[in-house]
Amino acid sequence: MSGNFLALAQPGVQQLSPYVPGKPVDELARELDLDPASIVKLASNENPLGASPKALAAIRDELAELTRYPDGNGFALKSLLAEQCRVELNQVTLGNGSNDILELVARAYLAPGLNAVFSEHAFAVYPIATQAVGAEAKVVPAKDWGHDLPAMLAAIDANTRVVFIANPNNPTGTWFGAEALDEFLQDVPEHVLVVLDEAYIEYAEGSDMPDGLDFLAAYPNLLVSRTFSKAYGLAALRVGYGLSTAVVADVLNRVRQPFNVNSLALAAACAALKDEDYLAQSRRLNESGMQQLQAGFRELGLSWIESRGNFICVDLGQVAAPVFQGLLREGVIVRPVANYGMPNHLRVTIGLPAENSRFLEALRKVLARG
Ligand SMILES: *Cc1c(COP(=O)(O)O)cnc(C)c1O
Repeated sequence: MSGNFLALAQPGVQQLSPYVPGKPVDELARELDLDPASIVKLASNENPLGASPKALAAIRDELAELTRYPDGNGFALKSLLAEQCRVELNQVTLGNGSNDILELVARAYLAPGLNAVFSEHAFAVYPIATQAVGAEAKVVPAKDWGHDLPAMLAAIDANTRVVFIANPNNPTGTWFGAEALDEFLQDVPEHVLVVLDEAYIEYAEGSDMPDGLDFLAAYPNLLVSRTFSKAYGLAALRVGYGLSTAVVADVLNRVRQPFNVNSLALAAACAALKDEDYLAQSRRLNESGMQQLQAGFRELGLSWIESRGNFICVDLGQVAAPVFQGLLREGVIVRPVANYGMPNHLRVTIGLPAENSRFLEALRKVLARG
């Protein structure tokens, strides 16, 4: 008799659904027999500029060393990050994407009988990381689509070891200010590690969003996670990082895979960090694209959730799935967010001006058909 290997999986895993990524361009091209070049993908919060030319050059230089294992300690990248983030080298943890950092935290600090607290409509990787290690996910109802920090505080109990908060949050784009963050950190019990996920922070410079790094010195139970996948345009390479006390970084270092960040990613990330022009250009493009989309939504009589990321959730005032399908037939891929408890919204990544126009035009067409 063979074992039931679904029933044999630990209970937390049985209750998980796999992460649903944005639909790949090639898949839609195959399904609809379209030219991939004619398809606009605004579904995964990727940087529409393409990678920095300096990162591409660094990758080409690194190719000669492909036979070697990467630097398992990521010395060059950690050094640059430590300098830029005003921390010591031993406070930096590198990850295979920042998702890796979230998983390292879960593996090191969560277990059956313990729990992690996070918000409704929060990033889908939080329940995956939590339940994969048999811990309980305590999901706190959102307030105006954003994190209800006082309610999250109230949800913390003696078995809570981790709180995941994202600023801004994905998929909602909502954010909280410095004062709210400081009050929250002051009140979180010392035994709870606060993971502040700042995947989109580079887009927020000069806005009313706090910089998590400003809070590291005061709060030893804070870990700030960041990524090269969004504003730095290196999503395919999988590289992100965590900043924390040296003690937390040491613990995470014990559970990570020895070579969790590959050599092309390390080289490209170093080059991308130094390319300030690329980052500034990415920000400008995002700001104007955000205006463009909002103007388009206004014209269509649609409302949206204010966002500090490189994406925006538009409220269709009706179930969004058919509109999503209609957009696919127009060669435009956006992101349905029903699996985040938002059946009437679609999340749209800010693209190039022409991509944003294509999307708005397709949306107008699809909505007019009713
Ligand atoms: C995209 C994203 C990440 C980053 O994922 P990577 O693994 O670094 O590509 C982390 N958190 C949130 C909220 C995100 O949207």
